[in-house]
Parts: sequence; C-alpha cells; structure tokens
Amino acid sequence: MDRAPHKYIVSKQTFFIRRSYIRKKACRFCADRNLPIDYKDVKLLRNFVTERGKIMPRRITGNCAYHQRRIAKAIKMSRIVAIMPYTSINV
Ligand SMILES: [Zn+2]
Repeated sequence: MDRAPHKYIVSKQTFFIRRSYIRKKACRFCADRNLPIDYKDVKLLRNFVTERGKIMPRRITGNCAYHQRRIAKAIKMSRIVAIMPYTSINV
C-alpha cells in the first residue's frame, strides 16, 4: 500500500543526487586549440564513438557544437576509408 509513495520519494532523491553529479564538461578542442581533428587519428576519434561504433552525442562528450560537427565529419570520413568501423560485430 505505502510502496508506491516510498518508491516515488526514492526516485526523486536519486534524481537530485544524479543531478548534483552532473558537471559541465568543457570542450576538449576549445580548451586545447592546437589539438587537431584528423580523420586518420583513430586514437582520438575512438573517444567519441561507443564500443559498437556509434557517434556519441554532444551531451555525453561535452564538445561544443562546432567541434562536434567536426568530429562527426571526421568519423564519417574515416569510416569511408575503412579506418573506423560503421558497426562492430563482436559484442
Ligand atoms: Zn569546441
């Protein structure tokens, strides 16, 4: 009977706790102006895709809109030249 309101309170608390953990990440490429975005730089681009090869959204990577566009374009280019995978079959 009193299970539902209890559940609600818990979820509300966890919501606030999770909110407090979220901190604004600065764009890596804005912070370091000399860091180039290169479609051949797989080590760098790997940070911006999931293990299945999907491009991660800006709200997770913390990139600014300008650099996220550059990253997405670089990943797509490296997919075309078969450096990066479109998807991963093992997982
Ligand atoms: Zn940026």
